[in-house]
Amino acid sequence: MRRSCDPRKCGDESKSACSSQVAVNARRNLDIDRILGKIRHKILVMSGKGGVGKSTVAVNLAVGLTRLGFRVGLMDVDLHGPDVCRMLNLSEPLADSSTDGKMPPWRTDDNLLVMSLENMLEDRDSPIIWRGPLKNQAIHRFIADVAWGELDYLVIDAPPGTGDEPMTVAQMIKDAKALVVTTPQQVALADVRKSINFCKHVKLEILGVVENMSGYVCPHCGKVAELFKSGGGEELALSANLPFFGRIPLDPRVMLAGDDGRPYLTGNDDSPALAAFNSMVAAVAEALPTTMRTAAGQVCPADLAAPPPLPLENPAADCGCQGKNAPNPG
Ligand SMILES: [Zn+2]
Repeated sequence: MRRSCDPRKCGDESKSACSSQVAVNARRNLDIDRILGKIRHKILVMSGKGGVGKSTVAVNLAVGLTRLGFRVGLMDVDLHGPDVCRMLNLSEPLADSSTDGKMPPWRTDDNLLVMSLENMLEDRDSPIIWRGPLKNQAIHRFIADVAWGELDYLVIDAPPGTGDEPMTVAQMIKDAKALVVTTPQQVALADVRKSINFCKHVKLEILGVVENMSGYVCPHCGKVAELFKSGGGEELALSANLPFFGRIPLDPRVMLAGDDGRPYLTGNDDSPALAAFNSMVAAVAEALPTTMRTAAGQVCPADLAAPPPLPLENPAADCGCQGKNAPNPG
């Protein structure tokens, strides 16, 4: 948020302190603009409510884009429940500072840089109470004080809802685009409508909608069973005239992989959830093309192999296997 102070009109007695704060803010804003200028696309992953697997989508989107050869940053601004570090098994403390005085982010491989509130926490199990200004400061620091370097994509994991954090990001990163995550349940869909209205209000362009937890991958036969009616996210996207990036079924292995600190897309399991994640990543890369030269060489999304078809065209109401012929679910 850019507060401006006109020293001629400022009635503050400590005018010099006020002016120097203006200078500090101006320098930081310049810094932010310079850093953001080196990042081609910024994607704000948001959801109207918690519990829709937003962080799982954000982490797997970031990992999936690096697997296409892009250089990606992942910024966790979910200040109330940061779990990106756990999902990526990042427990090493960050190095103190790099040569230009910027904090180096975690580097999970050559192409993925990660920054999370975790590294500002003394004790990761202590509850965090953040007031608005503190949140804004933390988000400014995440951008201005971090050595992001040149990136093809910055994926931002925003907290659920339409509060301070998505608002700050929308104001600070003018060209960010929102990826809205929902589940098929009505209560989640109602909240997504709020998110869509929020985006309109703050002029945040919506990239598209993803329906997460859409059906359930049976651990015995690997087929997708529908526990609830799915497809609500797609209907909502259609009615709001927004691109739809697919339905991702709930796979227990996705959650286990997250708990073990291995994002799902780094595994080689054959699963409808994996296929759906890959489709989503390809759709995002197609919607936000970049031909920037990356560490892995020049990559053009148009040359990428066609994504596998979405697995839910004819989902079985019940897989019906009742655990028979069950391979070991582990
Ligand atoms: Zn089954």
